[in-house]
Amino acid sequence: MSLSRSEFFKFIGFGMLAAPWGGGEGLSARAMTGGEEARRLKVNDVEIFAFDVPLREPFRIAIGTMTAANDVLVRIHTDGGIVGIGEACPFPPITGETQQTNLAMAVSIRDIVRGKDPLAIEGILAEIGPMVHSNPSIVAAYDMALFDILGKVAGLPLFRLLGGSNPSFETDITVGLDAPERMAERAKAFVGQGYKVIKVKVGQDPDLDVTRMQAVRSAVGEGTNLRIDANQGWTVPQAVSALRRMERFRIQFCEQPVAAWDVSGLRGVREGSPIAVMADEALYLPADAVKLVKADACDHFNIKLMKAGGLMNGLKIAHVAEAANIRCMVGCMLESKVALTAAAHLVASERTITFADLDGNSEHTIDPVIDGMSVSKGIITLPEKPGLGCDVDPAFLKKLRKV
Ligand code: MG
Repeated sequence: MSLSRSEFFKFIGFGMLAAPWGGGEGLSARAMTGGEEARRLKVNDVEIFAFDVPLREPFRIAIGTMTAANDVLVRIHTDGGIVGIGEACPFPPITGETQQTNLAMAVSIRDIVRGKDPLAIEGILAEIGPMVHSNPSIVAAYDMALFDILGKVAGLPLFRLLGGSNPSFETDITVGLDAPERMAERAKAFVGQGYKVIKVKVGQDPDLDVTRMQAVRSAVGEGTNLRIDANQGWTVPQAVSALRRMERFRIQFCEQPVAAWDVSGLRGVREGSPIAVMADEALYLPADAVKLVKADACDHFNIKLMKAGGLMNGLKIAHVAEAANIRCMVGCMLESKVALTAAAHLVASERTITFADLDGNSEHTIDPVIDGMSVSKGIITLPEKPGLGCDVDPAFLKKLRKV
């Protein structure tokens, strides 16, 4: 079949290429028959915005405190009218990048993607290359915007395009560091809201951490799953001792007990701990996943788009994990619903991802995102819309600083 560009747009339906958001209901497999034309799509331009959301309360973890999400939004425009959206949420205490470094890098990456075929994601990411080492979050923003375009071209929600079938799954919600009684109250309040899995931050003084977990377990009762995150805060002996003392609180796993770079220390904790160990800050890229597997260093992976540089690398890590019989969680920083929705598509696509920690916007003072994932009583549900299935409110966008 040979169609001109305009015939192609009509053929696959105005909802997709004619709509400003590239959204469009009722798209079907018909869209895929226009593959030749889709391959001729080009990136026209990229809009880059500084996107700040204050938090209701400061978020404290073992290695730092955040009072706002200082994010970056990108919107990739194509000559076919499809727009893809992506979000970077740099978290300086973990990845060392900032909104400023992400904005600067976003401009450099814009020069790379302009004029490119937006569906050639592997090639674009290869060209972005080592920027993922210094600024993984802005690479993630571009990656998810390209995947958004891919889903819209295919007329499929991203999780379906990637082979998933179930739009719903359970997420935990996180209790930050505080006095044991306050943490217990907070955990209990989350259980009251319907959450069945609570993640608790630890990683300071091990004795205080044990007291915290005792308070939380007795507040939530036995019917709630608990997982903990030490954010690199312990030494190896502290971790082994604390986790042994916490065994009686029935904890699913402990994230990143020791320093990110200490792979042999992580293995040491795993060998001495009765509680499963999850690599988080030790795992950024697919090559880190291979390193952790070779070292037998952990039971689980925590994949985050903001560490991995997006969905493509997230998928690659999940595939390494599956081959190594490792189950994964997909976690987050302090993202808005744009990047959280992208992460949720990853969860719904991969069977080795059995845990989710996608509560990044739970303390945001505003939610300017239209559609995207919804959360009710700890259950996330993805929309049946092409691509990510979300966008930022145009009225809100107008207020943002454009770069
Ligand atoms: Mg963590």
